[in-house]
Amino acid sequence: MLFLMGERNVLAVLQEAFIGKCAGDDFSVDVPHEQAYGRYYPDRIQRVPKKKIDNGANRKFQIGQILNMQTPNGRSPATIVKVGKFNIDVDGNHPLAGKDLRFDVKIIAVRESTEEERQHGHAHGPGGHNH
Ligand code: ZN
Repeated sequence: MLFLMGERNVLAVLQEAFIGKCAGDDFSVDVPHEQAYGRYYPDRIQRVPKKKIDNGANRKFQIGQILNMQTPNGRSPATIVKVGKFNIDVDGNHPLAGKDLRFDVKIIAVRESTEEERQHGHAHGPGGHNH
């Protein structure tokens, strides 16, 4: 992937690990879940009537499918964890919530950012932001 250093394009702790490194360096970064996608909250699993999701259209739902759920805080993705006859259980946790992560990193290349990239706050090009 291509990212713009100094912006919130990657996890903060991962970005910190890049400081002082050069092209060709490889290293691993361990990120505890508290610094990644946070705790896993069991109460974010909810049972929702199918009718409420598809308006009675009898759509097929599958475990692992991601739905955009309406919540009091706006739309939020949730993963289907169980499909019943009339109800669906969805998990509103981030798929990586509660997981300690390890990134194996190899820096392929480093270049100056362009004015446009700095304005946009992300890198342009293959592996970066695509407009
Ligand atoms: Zn852009």
